[in-house]
Amino acid sequence: MLNILIFGPPGCGKGTQSEFLVDHYNLKHLSTGDIFRENIKNKTDLGIKAKTYMDQGQLVPDFITIDMLGKKMQSKTGFNGFLFDGFPRTIKQAESLDDFLLKINQKISMMICIEVPKDELVKRILKRGEISNRADDQNKEIILNRIKVYKDQTEVLKDYYQKQNKFFNVDGMATIADVKEKIFSLIDFYQKES
Ligand code: AMP
Repeated sequence: MLNILIFGPPGCGKGTQSEFLVDHYNLKHLSTGDIFRENIKNKTDLGIKAKTYMDQGQLVPDFITIDMLGKKMQSKTGFNGFLFDGFPRTIKQAESLDDFLLKINQKISMMICIEVPKDELVKRILKRGEISNRADDQNKEIILNRIKVYKDQTEVLKDYYQKQNKFFNVDGMATIADVKEKIFSLIDFYQKES
């Protein structure tokens, strides 16, 4: 299986690139943000719990997020691997993900990190907020908080995967097509070598 982790700060283009990857490599897309938003829309208990954190730009607590992700990983047929988008965001989540994968004899193949400077992130998210209806995309304070949370709690995961030689960096200031091409070539190279 090919288990890809697409990584980077909010607004870096993970969602856009995920769509290409899912189609091209036949991956099961697991976006924790999308799953939470779906639950909020359907007013589930999980959605109600997650919303208070999301509205502030805070992380939903690990025990809630990890439990949800574990359940979503239970079906394993009909695709070539998982694409993790927006998960893990903490060391605890990364360790739990390793455990989930180990139980099914799998591991993360590679982490692809899309790098974009902070000013550009804020600009992009505010622009997305004009059409996305996402409260957390419309308020500059909350956007800055999400970026800070990424810096404080999530960015450390680059080291976590670097130590396992799984970390790959992509310049997210390039065009969408160029970012896509770069990511595809990294994955194709990985597949050829392994
Ligand atoms: P995203 O769509 O990935 O930008 O996520 C939107 C919001 O959902 C985040 O700001 C968090 O509040 C919450 N969220 C998504 N993924 C996670 C995660 N792995 N851990 C904790 N909270 C998350």
